[in-house]
Amino acid sequence: VPELPDVEGFKRYLVRYADGRIVTGVKVHDRVLLRNRSPQTLARAVNRRKLVNARRHGKWLLVDAGESTLLFHFGMTGLFKWDDPPHPHDRIVLQFADGALAYRNMRRFGGVWLARGEREIAEVTGPLGPDAMEVGSADLEQMLHARRGGIKAALMDQRMLAGLGNLLVDEILWRSRIHPRRDARKLRPKDTAKVHRVMHDVLVESNRRARVPPLPGWLTGVRDTRDAKCPRCGTRLRKATVAGRTTCWCPRCQRRASA
Ligand SMILES: [Zn+2]
Repeated sequence: VPELPDVEGFKRYLVRYADGRIVTGVKVHDRVLLRNRSPQTLARAVNRRKLVNARRHGKWLLVDAGESTLLFHFGMTGLFKWDDPPHPHDRIVLQFADGALAYRNMRRFGGVWLARGEREIAEVTGPLGPDAMEVGSADLEQMLHARRGGIKAALMDQRMLAGLGNLLVDEILWRSRIHPRRDARKLRPKDTAKVHRVMHDVLVESNRRARVPPLPGWLTGVRDTRDAKCPRCGTRLRKATVAGRTTCWCPRCQRRASA
């Protein structure tokens, strides 16, 4: 499931193979995944244009082509392939003089959009908070204190903070020793500062690997194993639905009431 670090990996891939190159053709194999334009409009917008300024905002990947911006969302199973043999799940392919970049997506969540200008981009993405890699500690504290409800739901809300998904939020809260249902408004400044510091560390390490790595000592490394135990204290981990997602935490390290 692409999370922020996966999209960061796709951005590096795009930069490596296609950014700065001129599009020579477009093939749309799946019109549904081209979400807001016809194939003809897409071709007119990007043909003979150079792709520039590849950037990520939350789980969105954007790249400019002339007056237009291409927006990619990877859903559950999206990825890029450069110059790979044609594949039945290649939905949209951008062609260049020396190769082709396929947007491949088995389960067909996500897609490709075209927009002109910041207002249209915002219409496509919906309201997005600052990117989780960019937000400052004071801003995060202010956002959390303005929230109703639990900390997990707050951190998952892309309108508040863009980029965090289920794995990342569970990892961050476990390391911060904060229960996923703790009231966001009632966190102490030292707790929000810790969430910010931990979030940054987890993202830097994950971005380097283009995934949330299931490393030893990470919650992500054990959460899907049978009888999973806390890598820190050995207590059996608890699982329940929080903020609509299967959530994993340590009942000993992450107490519901603030200490
Ligand atoms: Zn524990």
